[in-house]
Amino acid sequence: MKPMGAIPADFGMTTPLQIAGQTAAEWVANAGDTPLFVYDFTVIAARIARFRSAMPTGVDLHYAIKANPFAPLLAAIAPLVNGFDIASAGEMDMALPHKLATAISFAGPGKRDDALTAAISAGVTINVESANEAARALDIAERVGVTPRLAVRVNPDIELRGSGMRMGGRASPFGIDADEAAAVARTILAAGADWRGWHIFAGSQALDPAAIIETQAATLELADRLSEAAGAQPPLVNLGGGFGIPYFPGEQPVDIEAIGAALGDRLSERDRTGTRHAIELGRWLVGEAGVYLTRIIDRKHSRGETFLVVDGGLHHQLAATGNLGTVVRRNYPVAIASGAGGATETVSVVGPLCTPLDRLADRVLLPEGRVGDLVAVFMAGAYGLTASPTAFLGHAPPRELLVGAPVEP
Ligand SMILES: *Cc1c(COP(=O)(O)O)cnc(C)c1O
Repeated sequence: MKPMGAIPADFGMTTPLQIAGQTAAEWVANAGDTPLFVYDFTVIAARIARFRSAMPTGVDLHYAIKANPFAPLLAAIAPLVNGFDIASAGEMDMALPHKLATAISFAGPGKRDDALTAAISAGVTINVESANEAARALDIAERVGVTPRLAVRVNPDIELRGSGMRMGGRASPFGIDADEAAAVARTILAAGADWRGWHIFAGSQALDPAAIIETQAATLELADRLSEAAGAQPPLVNLGGGFGIPYFPGEQPVDIEAIGAALGDRLSERDRTGTRHAIELGRWLVGEAGVYLTRIIDRKHSRGETFLVVDGGLHHQLAATGNLGTVVRRNYPVAIASGAGGATETVSVVGPLCTPLDRLADRVLLPEGRVGDLVAVFMAGAYGLTASPTAFLGHAPPRELLVGAPVEP
């Protein structure tokens, strides 16, 4: 038997599983079939409320929509966050129906001319990733005849300790090296563009509050240094984010109250009138709100082990199978979401794809799951469907449902 991560407290461990006041089976009936992603907006709203009360005033919250760009979710979250962060022209098309262009910022290397043109024309802020991209953006803006909103993304000489994905402190396709960033800001200012400030993102999926506190302090210091060198006060300093969620056994949720208190102390150390600060989050806001529901199609025994073969797998939820940027495969929390319950047994939950990689849970202890019962894979709200190889093997796409959102007037 192998351990698995803890089921988020928002759901509890009851069989049948309840999501936003209804059973998993009812949501499946509502959506029509499995596989199904259910996103519980009450969980997302609670995360946002917790962020607001933990963080000092003057700190904005941005949603990095690549974590989950499901349109009903974007519509529901838009009024609750200050900005959307996007990373492609496609995400811009998804974001613009829900958020003012001036509240959208566009980061990511390799922005094509057509993407820059569309974003600059719409009034979206471009986080420039290189001196060359800044020059191209200025040229395009002149051609289009608008004053572009340009922020400078910095490749910081800082790394977020313990983060699942380090984005700083090394040679990088992301951002302009810290020692060249002020010069690019000066070029932008000299060209008469609307310089929006600094964007400094040092890493992702960090759980240790001490590491996040240390990184935020260093990020603020770096921003101060750069602003001095640029000779201008930034309207916005985007401090990055990187708040993680506890996927695996033994991991603890991030203590964001401690982070907020420390950030408040740092921000009050000097006069920052005229500068706003932002934290951009994806995973922490939406990751725990998602449950991926699959149905058991077959139960089989092989060489002393039991397999529950379900109708969903890595083509929809790659991360749970350990194939999205993890070194060691560990079990996400899973549960039998419907059924009679009964004595526990050790089983592996596998999907329908013809590859041994398609394993949603490896030798976990679950109540008996019979053919037709539902299996829930938790922590499926971020980097699930859109981070999975849906075309692989030609299975049908999953359904998605946002539940618990305020009803639109
Ligand atoms: C992906 C990304 C995020 C979101 O990261 P999470 O770990 O989901 O919070 C934020 N900012 C930038 C620049 C990103 O690339």
